[in-house]
Amino acid sequence: MRIFIIILPSQVKGEGSCRIKLFIFLRLPITRLPRQLFFRYAVQMVKQDISPADQDLVAAAAAAVKKPVLQLSGEKAPALVGAAIRMNDGRIVTAVNLIADVGSLSICAEPIAIAEAAKHPDKKIEAMVAVYYAPGQEPRVVSPCGRCREAIADYALGSSVILREPGTSVLFKVRAADLLPLRYAGYWRNGQLV
Ligand SMILES: [Zn+2]
Repeated sequence: MRIFIIILPSQVKGEGSCRIKLFIFLRLPITRLPRQLFFRYAVQMVKQDISPADQDLVAAAAAAVKKPVLQLSGEKAPALVGAAIRMNDGRIVTAVNLIADVGSLSICAEPIAIAEAAKHPDKKIEAMVAVYYAPGQEPRVVSPCGRCREAIADYALGSSVILREPGTSVLFKVRAADLLPLRYAGYWRNGQLV
């Protein structure tokens, strides 16, 4: 806490005295302020019901991940994760994840699907979803990892992402922008850190 004493001339004409004002400034670290004050928008994430078109998108991702693809071993087998994107003209593009021998080179399905969507530069990404496929089970909607959230924010900030309540089959969708508050790119304007 800091205390400042400021002496101001009197506002009354002809009066020679001065007024003394006492200012007390509180200097609290940001971390001690209410967390929700700074992350309010994050807790205001709005869950929306999915539409029939969204259900079709989930089905498209499931169909994509069930198809056999070339594996590292040379065998043909389904991938682990499939992603589907709906563009604003209704077009759907799909992709599956890519496993690399060097683990860090492996790529999630979402950025590969975004690359497919980028082939249609006149259209916008409207919604997207990813599903995880375990042999013997139906594909289930999976939440995009942190790295994918960056890619989604970069190319489809205004889109919706379909998610699933953990432990259930209940689907809903949220705005992509809500999945990555305080994102890296938000601190840059014209190449300058702001
Ligand atoms: Zn990912």
